[in-house]
Amino acid sequence: MYYVSTRDHTLHYTAAQAIEQGLSRDGGLFLPETFPQLPDLHGLLEMDYESRAASILQLFLDGFTQDEIRGFAQKAYGGGKFDCPEVAPVRELHCKTHILELWHGPTCAFKDMALQMLPHLLTASMAKNGEEKTVCILVATSGDTGKAALEGFKDVPGTKIMVFYPKDGVSDIQQLQMLTQEGQNVGVCAVVGNFDDAQTGVKTIFSDGAFREVLRQRGYVLSSANSINWGRVLPQIVYYISAYCDLVRSGKLAMGDGFNVCVPTGNFGNILAAYYAGKMGLPIQKLICASNANNVLTDFLQTGIYDRNRPFYNTTSPSMDILISSNLERLLFDLTGSDEEVRGYMAALSETGRYEVSDAVKEQIRARFVSGFCDDQRTLNTIEKVYHNTGYLMDTHTAVAYTVLQDYRAATADDTVTVVASTASPFKFCDSVLTALGVGEQAQGLTILQQLSQVTGKAIPKPLAALAGKAVRFDQTVEKEQMLAVVDQLLS
Ligand SMILES: *Cc1c(COP(=O)(O)O)cnc(C)c1O
Repeated sequence: MYYVSTRDHTLHYTAAQAIEQGLSRDGGLFLPETFPQLPDLHGLLEMDYESRAASILQLFLDGFTQDEIRGFAQKAYGGGKFDCPEVAPVRELHCKTHILELWHGPTCAFKDMALQMLPHLLTASMAKNGEEKTVCILVATSGDTGKAALEGFKDVPGTKIMVFYPKDGVSDIQQLQMLTQEGQNVGVCAVVGNFDDAQTGVKTIFSDGAFREVLRQRGYVLSSANSINWGRVLPQIVYYISAYCDLVRSGKLAMGDGFNVCVPTGNFGNILAAYYAGKMGLPIQKLICASNANNVLTDFLQTGIYDRNRPFYNTTSPSMDILISSNLERLLFDLTGSDEEVRGYMAALSETGRYEVSDAVKEQIRARFVSGFCDDQRTLNTIEKVYHNTGYLMDTHTAVAYTVLQDYRAATADDTVTVVASTASPFKFCDSVLTALGVGEQAQGLTILQQLSQVTGKAIPKPLAALAGKAVRFDQTVEKEQMLAVVDQLLS
């Protein structure tokens, strides 16, 4: 199976080339030329997560042996890296609503599901392509991605990783998670300014040809762990298929029954993976796309007009505070089947910040997608209400999704069994969750973890509890103009 770019379908790339390049040179995103069909799911029912992952990944990775892929899955999801044996367990909230918990990995957010896998896919791809240099991953993060990338690449042979975060733009816990990062090949540095400053700094380094040549001579190539890399989308397809298998195995669904999926969405990677699982034959009926006050996707999916010219809000679900959802480009390519049409939309987006899709595309979107959004107040109300009624504690991102699902059910009579993707542990967003539960006086620093645990009786996830005993290893803060010098030093 070959891969093509959303902006030029005539050139073919192997899986290893697509994963190593990340972004196509024409600015497009890679995707498989044709999608494989699911294997007989009866065969997956009795498997553990690792084996299910290997079975699905194999369908997309021509040029990789079965043993290699099994090895990646073992390293990513085995060996006690996830704090429960199911890896991505499905919890029943009501008989029609199930929560797919994607945050049992080492950083307690769903980014682990892909970033535990990506380093293995990337280093193996480089070896297959004959690239012998060490890859250095540069990341600008607004929170979850940086820590998940650090944990994924930590001590992976043939890699180094440098993470930049905005000094005042991440939570105390997120900052501590990064500053205490272990591993011999990692670097973390704060940047004066906001996320855009850090992001711009990283882009400047990537586009500095002279610096990249210097690094090449020292034996390094730069790469990114960005969510547009196919190596991040692919591992996310697995958990939707796995969740369906779990529901069938536990008798909540019969094999072949349809179900809906509801996803709290930012860059459109997670929900795109669900769409792809559907394309492979998983009987997903509606894909419910949930946004916070940054509701550019809600508008797009309802009107066919994407318009990023709007205010940006900082919300209590910060990982969804995004106005350009990069992975949407892959959906557009799929729905239009035309690289020319996609190029037109993307050119309009970069020139005017806006585009409108054709009626044919609107029609297809309406058939598959439902969308909605909710503000912070309703998000917090949902956390309180669900906790009060069921004892289940959800984080702010998951609560956005659950609220949108409730709205959809109230507006239609659709009571199809629905899987809600839960993307972060509530302990990652203690302050908002405590506020939702009516606790106004909140502890400072790490003590807030204990406070949330005392109020709710829920256990603090081990990786967060362990922060208290960890030494701070990084204390550098730089202006964005100095970021290149930091990388230069790391790779000296
Ligand atoms: C990244 C993230 C999201 C958004 O996922 P996308 O794939 O970007 O749509 C939602 N919730 C949390 C907690 C995240 O970290």
